[in-house]
Amino acid sequence: MSEDRYSGIRLIDWIGDSGREMIKKSSCTIIGCGALGCASSNLLVRFGFGSLKIVDRDFVELPNLERQILFDENDARMMKPKAIAAAEKLSSVNSEVRVNGVVTDVNSGNIDKILADCDLVVDGTDNLETRYLINDTCVKHKIPWVHGACLSSSGMSFNILPGGPCFRCMYAVAPELGRTPTCETEGILTSVPQLVGAIQATEAVKIICKSENISRRLIHVDLAAGTFEAIAVERSESCPACVKGHFEYLGKERTSSAVSLCGRNSVQIVPANETTVDLKALEKKLKTVGDVSHMGYLLNFKKEGHELVVFPDGRAIVRGTSDIGLAKSLYSRYIGN
Ligand SMILES: [Zn+2]
Repeated sequence: MSEDRYSGIRLIDWIGDSGREMIKKSSCTIIGCGALGCASSNLLVRFGFGSLKIVDRDFVELPNLERQILFDENDARMMKPKAIAAAEKLSSVNSEVRVNGVVTDVNSGNIDKILADCDLVVDGTDNLETRYLINDTCVKHKIPWVHGACLSSSGMSFNILPGGPCFRCMYAVAPELGRTPTCETEGILTSVPQLVGAIQATEAVKIICKSENISRRLIHVDLAAGTFEAIAVERSESCPACVKGHFEYLGKERTSSAVSLCGRNSVQIVPANETTVDLKALEKKLKTVGDVSHMGYLLNFKKEGHELVVFPDGRAIVRGTSDIGLAKSLYSRYIGN
């Protein structure tokens, strides 16, 4: 293309031609492609990063369209994995960027591989467990990451840079499950993740350009009140991660897990070991007991009011329930142990 598509940012004094070259040479991984991941990656691809990796475990559903700006009704009809739908959309916006969509659940067994060779991580997750994992990996390998979170009418962004303070300085221990407010209980204002994603993408660019303006404070926005605050975060003297170098979340052995998904009335089941499921063979098996359809990337199985969506890596999302026991029993009954 002869016309310079980056003429706007080249004129920004802290980016310029040299900053643009740094962005072009950089690779960024976005973990989670819900509302936040959509918003940040939509901007990062326009800044023209060298490569973007979009990692997500989920597929597109109609209620996502309220705030997940990379997806459309066709993606929801086709139950496209979000990482695939996002990668297609982002590539069509900027074909100069290498965009890689990875459909997987991030865990202690695969996060090192997922984050190998990336210069920067942008948080698009919806849960603390994955953020602790990202934090341990990034602190260990000195990769900067940009934390973001949204709830109700508020959101925040915070840069976690080598040397700290880190995410565990902010949240030393994970609160008990069920004790934290979620999007399911508090709702989420459509515009909040767009704003937080925009702040994250901008901070990501500052980090890559080694700008003097990199924010060292937590940026908190409340769109109901219409306020922005920059809050100081102190490094914790006893932080297990950035002070002591104990990466507890990386040491946790991968086990089979079942978690209720934020805002979804669904449970995700993850098998203990890395595996590959032959969806065609499974389709054949399940045809005899219920309604099954192969959606290209995944299998959709319905039986007596229950619905299971099965991914090639053996994960399943059980829809229409947040009862973990029920979800596990449906999984073992129809998919296997
Ligand atoms: Zn720390």
